Amino acid sequence: MGYVFNSMKVAVFSTRKYDRKYFDQANELIGHELVYFENLLREETAQLAADCECVCAFVNDKLNEQTLALLAQGKTRLIAMRCAGFNNVDMEAANKHGLTVVRVPAYSPHAVSEHVIAILMALYRTTHRSHNRVREGNFSLEGMVGHEVFGKTVGVIGTGKIGALVAKLFLGFGCKVCAFDMREDEELTRWGVRYTDLDTIWETCDIISLHCPLLPTTKHLINEDTLAKMKSGVTIINTSRGALIDTAAAYHALKSGKLGFFGIDVYEEEDNLFFEDLSTEIIQDDLFMRLTTFPNVFITGHQAFFTDTALTNIADTTLANISKFDASGSCANQVLIG
Ligand code: NAD
Repeated sequence: MGYVFNSMKVAVFSTRKYDRKYFDQANELIGHELVYFENLLREETAQLAADCECVCAFVNDKLNEQTLALLAQGKTRLIAMRCAGFNNVDMEAANKHGLTVVRVPAYSPHAVSEHVIAILMALYRTTHRSHNRVREGNFSLEGMVGHEVFGKTVGVIGTGKIGALVAKLFLGFGCKVCAFDMREDEELTRWGVRYTDLDTIWETCDIISLHCPLLPTTKHLINEDTLAKMKSGVTIINTSRGALIDTAAAYHALKSGKLGFFGIDVYEEEDNLFFEDLSTEIIQDDLFMRLTTFPNVFITGHQAFFTDTALTNIADTTLANISKFDASGSCANQVLIG
């Protein structure tokens, strides 16, 4: 028998030019039928995938019970998330409707960990403001006094693939690094990271960086009560998921001065904002817009993952996941519940 090649028809939601570029490149030798939609996947758009065996979705698509039920009524059997997180997929509903969910567990933890440092350096050294001033011929240093990372006590919450790299980067800066995770990483302990409880992190750290997943138990991990326990002037960086932070509580802490620096790449209401050009629109999210006015807040639009290495790995792994499912009905990167 000759070589049998199967290909799947894949509805790729929330696609932008860059997704097409990296997916088309990776698909050249594989040959799946990729149908691109700019639309977010929602109950209202699920019909677009009616004749596709696979749906490829991203971080702000909503794969709730209704959406999944509609997909299962069509030909869809596989949900291929082209990201690590799957908090936007109702896994019980996926199971109920016989949909297999696969994901890309790691595509470049370095991309995200390095972005943590990019955000922190912008906040501590106002490099973004210097760039604009110099372009306008303004070489005044007024209002530009920086802060040094060396010697600070840093708390890393979640020391998985990304958190572990962040901890090592901060050790490289000459920081004292504390961490909280239910699973302690012995290698990090050997490097000099000290595992501790959350209260110790809140009470002793100058910089806190979040790297745990968004779960019902971690929603609003940073809230009015936990902020109250922190050092005055604390720096919080969040590149994990927006809802780990009660943004309204962070806003009040910024106004009171309790929160000294706030750097975020993710925001709890980001699905109404991020990945879109809204520069000619009236943005309705007053809390978000107010945050952009603070000089000690630095926001990027969920771009921590966004490097050429990561985009190549995402496309390669997603298509390999689809091929494996197609060939054998299972895949090592399947998301299992329970
Ligand atoms: P990972 O699974 O390797 O690590 C997560 C770690 O969090 C694990 O060690 C786990 O034990 C720990 N953890 C779970 N619950 C916890 C809790 N309640 N308190 C403390 N630790 C807890 O994941 P990762 O690849 O390191 O990714 C971390 C997060 O980064 C993901 O959840 C994802 O949402 C986010 N992420 C963001 C971007 C971006 O572009 N901004 C890109 C990739 C990943």
